[in-house]
Amino acid sequence: MRNLILSESQNGNKYVYDINQKLLRNIDDVSYHIVRLAQENQIQLGQINTLFLKTNNIVISDNELERIKSSFSKLYTNSRTDALKTEITGDIIKYYLSNFPQIVFEVTEKCNLDCKYCTYGDFYNGHDSRTNHNLNIESAKRFLKYIYDFCNSSYSTSSKNIINIGFYGGEPLIRFDFIKSITLYAKELEQENVTFQFSMTTNATLLNKHIDFLVQNNFKLLISIDGDSNNHSYRVYKNGESSFDDVYNNTLFVKNHYPDFFSNNVKLNSVLHNRNSVFEINEFGKMNFGKNPMIAEISTDGLREDRKTELLSLFKNKNEDLKQSEDYFRLFHKENLSEVPDYKEAMYFIYNLSNLIYFNYSQLFLNQNKAVKPTGTCLPFARKIFITATGKILPCENVPHKFAFGSVSKDDININFGKLAQTYNMYLSKIKGICSNCYRVANCSQCMYYLNINDEHINCYGFMNKKEFSKYLCGIITYLENNPKIFWKIINETSLS
Ligand code: SF4
Ligand code: SF4
Repeated sequence: MRNLILSESQNGNKYVYDINQKLLRNIDDVSYHIVRLAQENQIQLGQINTLFLKTNNIVISDNELERIKSSFSKLYTNSRTDALKTEITGDIIKYYLSNFPQIVFEVTEKCNLDCKYCTYGDFYNGHDSRTNHNLNIESAKRFLKYIYDFCNSSYSTSSKNIINIGFYGGEPLIRFDFIKSITLYAKELEQENVTFQFSMTTNATLLNKHIDFLVQNNFKLLISIDGDSNNHSYRVYKNGESSFDDVYNNTLFVKNHYPDFFSNNVKLNSVLHNRNSVFEINEFGKMNFGKNPMIAEISTDGLREDRKTELLSLFKNKNEDLKQSEDYFRLFHKENLSEVPDYKEAMYFIYNLSNLIYFNYSQLFLNQNKAVKPTGTCLPFARKIFITATGKILPCENVPHKFAFGSVSKDDININFGKLAQTYNMYLSKIKGICSNCYRVANCSQCMYYLNINDEHINCYGFMNKKEFSKYLCGIITYLENNPKIFWKIINETSLS
């Protein structure tokens, strides 16, 4: 009965989950113990009789046992049937490039700050060493035109396509000339069927100088601020001075001078660490800017072994921090629900591990299972196309540079779609063996580019055996039992697309 997982919530309610049918069922104590006994003794339910149960201190009648067996007959197969799919083609990758692509330009490697926990800093490896490169404007224009042509090709299935252009650094506003030039070039290309939207992640230290242009071009801004002066004290200039006053004053300037823009286009992002808390970050955002910030943990991917301990001493777990106060946990639920880790877990469980939500009509009417592929790695370019300051093409800013999908220069663009698909398939089929034994596979968020994917034996610390999956289920079920309104919110706010 590999497909059946038993779990008990912290409220003492018992459940069985069928991983094949993605079905969670509340069961009585006796049924729970009978399935547990069958699993522990590695026998089929059909082999269990009342005598065997009696020797295990369960006394029930033959009729009752038959009723229990028949209630499980539909759930009960001896294996898991979730076949993993690993095949993509060059054309599928071109399709993603051609439909609502999101291009992010790493405008420059330079930054005027020296934030302690920066993923490009001393604690991490995986990225090329940073030597203050700037992305060439002509290379970026060439790449933009390349994507624009894809959006006008037969690979595009939309009559109204939007290309999202993001500017990223270092600190992108150090090279305002680049941002201005690319924005104006995109505007020149714009036609009725292909339009552009602009966004930027910024440390806000130079925001006051360039805000007019950003407002005129309807930029979406993500401003990094970790809370009040003390909370923000890891975000320092190169000379060690805090950036707080500049960041705070510039953000306030935008709020006061462009209130509609600030309200609609600006989000705050805060990193959680040992000098702030979820509570302090949220109160600061609310009181000063009328916004609930997005809250990220310090990244633990790609850490240097010899600096791990030091970096981890700054780390704070968001869920644990949030649960320090019951009152605050409840308040936070009301105000900033999308930032509650338990809520996100429950949402992904309902999306990916239940049959309560269908994402298209084939799933609903033809009972087609959502395709499951090993790992949580996104398909090449399905989420993002990241161009480094040196012209490497990557699936996002987090992926180690050695996995570059191609390159761009002012004279040439080099992406071999067939080879890219082949490499992607090769990696996935390599990891398929371990993923097909992992119980979280349909709800995995692990990116394969962070695993030792080139080694003969791949290790994944996120792997879940049956027992670990049962514990994971317990957390989600307990949360949903304690927050029934959240369950209905997730169900009611998801519609067929
Ligand atoms: S880290 Fe991996 S899964 Fe996440 S966005 Fe990047 S490529 Fe996709
Ligand atoms: S957690 Fe690891 S082993 Fe499990 S499905 Fe994801 S990538 Fe595979």
